[in-house]
Amino acid sequence: MSAPTIKEMTELCHAIAKSKGFWDKPRNTGEALMLVVTELAEAMEAHRKQDDANFKEELADTFIRLFDLCGGMGIDIEAEILKKCDKNKLRPYKHGKIC
Ligand SMILES: [Mg+2]
Repeated sequence: MSAPTIKEMTELCHAIAKSKGFWDKPRNTGEALMLVVTELAEAMEAHRKQDDANFKEELADTFIRLFDLCGGMGIDIEAEILKKCDKNKLRPYKHGKIC
């Protein structure tokens, strides 16, 4: 059995959120994005406390919320990531900034 693709992870995260009632009404995109930010803030707090297990869990929460949002909005984030990586490969060293 191979590892799930990002597309499959997106479908899984969105299916779970839907089954728990989080998509019974249309989602507010700004609110959903800020919930992703709260997960990153929780990861920062775990990092500050040197709680490695919780740090990893909060990073997972971050991806879960992002994948759910992408699933709900019909965004193929796997394709978008690959497209952006191709774009990033063409950018200059340190994106041309001298620092
Ligand atoms: Mg969390």
